[in-house]
Amino acid sequence: MPDANKNYVGGEWTTTETGETLDVVNPADPSEVVARYQQSGSEDATEAVEAAAEAADEWAATPGPERGTVLREAAKILDDKKDELTDQLVAEEGKARGEAAGEVQRAIDIFYYFAQKASDLGGTRKQASGPDTDLYTIQEPVGVAALITPWNYPIAIPAWKLAPALATGNAVVLKPASVAPGPAVALAEALDEAGLPDGVLNVVTGPGSSVANTFVEADEVDAVSFTGSSQVGEMVYDQATDHGKRAQMEMGGKNPTVVASSADPEEAADIVASGGFGTTGQSCTACSRAIVHEDVYDEFVDALVDEAESIEIGPGNEADMGPQVSESEVEGTLEYIDIAENEGATLATGGGVPDDLGDGFYVEPTVFTDVERDYRIAQEEVFGPVVAVIKVSDYEEALDVANDVDYGLSSSIVTDDHTEAKSFIDDSEAGVVKVNDKTTGLELHVPFGGFKRSSSETWREQGDAGIDFYTISKTVYDN
Ligand code: NAD
Repeated sequence: MPDANKNYVGGEWTTTETGETLDVVNPADPSEVVARYQQSGSEDATEAVEAAAEAADEWAATPGPERGTVLREAAKILDDKKDELTDQLVAEEGKARGEAAGEVQRAIDIFYYFAQKASDLGGTRKQASGPDTDLYTIQEPVGVAALITPWNYPIAIPAWKLAPALATGNAVVLKPASVAPGPAVALAEALDEAGLPDGVLNVVTGPGSSVANTFVEADEVDAVSFTGSSQVGEMVYDQATDHGKRAQMEMGGKNPTVVASSADPEEAADIVASGGFGTTGQSCTACSRAIVHEDVYDEFVDALVDEAESIEIGPGNEADMGPQVSESEVEGTLEYIDIAENEGATLATGGGVPDDLGDGFYVEPTVFTDVERDYRIAQEEVFGPVVAVIKVSDYEEALDVANDVDYGLSSSIVTDDHTEAKSFIDDSEAGVVKVNDKTTGLELHVPFGGFKRSSSETWREQGDAGIDFYTISKTVYDN
């Protein structure tokens, strides 16, 4: 067993004051401990916050292009370690290799993108009413940002918060999820090697209840960016805003794909299967509801069942679909499968644990049909490879069902009718709306965020929206 990975605080690699460590197991073979991390506590978190607060002013005063150089150098280092990082994602999270490699590439691209943004930062010059007045705006960093991240995109999500926060001159404290924290630690290694000044980034692994809580309540922290479940995110939002902090929450989803009467059922099934079963259904934007017009319902269901049954399940390095990340995630998925059966939904395929894959955390790709819109399987986030199919008799009903949930992250429609597509774009209550495409996947230069319980609606992430969250604008009159 390798030595425990350390925290990164004030530019040093440190061990926790608690003296405890946390093991990460291979989701494809839980008997294998793949890595060990610090099981830190509040004291470690406080040290990290203090280090960030001390480093913040100097980093804020560092010219943008110079900050960009550090990010660009980190991107190159990550690029050189692409295979190693992909191995780490497969080992700690169980992600299928192609998806893991794509995610690592995304993290690298994010660093390159925000490296450039650091140089482009600036305000705007305006016409002033006085003849000798220079009137302009500038963007200043918020100060110290606390980043709290989930396990399901363990390198891309820390990267998409970290890169804009650093590019804009903020100091950062970061707590990754306890499941699969390794890639976030790897980002710290790359930034350290790239020459990021001590204390500008601090990474502390450990439980949310102690480490993240301490970050959120610390006076020195000015902004909190969280991605994770709605249950935790809503709590963190209240806590952060009660302490007067800027808060951005990206949370759960119950994302629909509407299959219109004009859709090709096979194409629609392909779109729903890749949105629903990609990343083993563990995406915030995963398609978990197919809302299907009665004219194409039977053909669509047959095609979706074929798609689900053709997915090869196994260890991330070998198969199309890897395991879920942990035993408790499997238990959660199986519980929802039970709930759906008890509610009266028809199990069309899947529903169990494959019997030839040992103790790995696997669940078969599962399709439920005859789902009513108010069933729990149609309302609550499962976060596993389960798609609920709901039959509707016209487009208006489909739109109504699509919007009739507490979440609003991503949505899509498969249709040949442009009027319907336009209506869906206008009326779908989701932060990301797609036409003839899966609910998952997004470019890095456009804003990302949702409605209702999926997001705190005031802030978006990625692209220029990422810059906005980490900066405050100041208006200057210079006579
Ligand atoms: P989670 O809410 O359990 O944990 C997220 C983070 O919060 C982790 O770092 C965790 O340690 C921390 N945390 C836990 N309890 C805390 C507390 N009391 N105070 C402060 N922090 C605490 O989520 P997860 O299981 O890691 O991730 C899956 C969830 O994330 C799903 O609901 C998914 O939809 C959501 N997600 C959303 C997006 C998005 O952009 N909207 C992206 C990915 C995942």
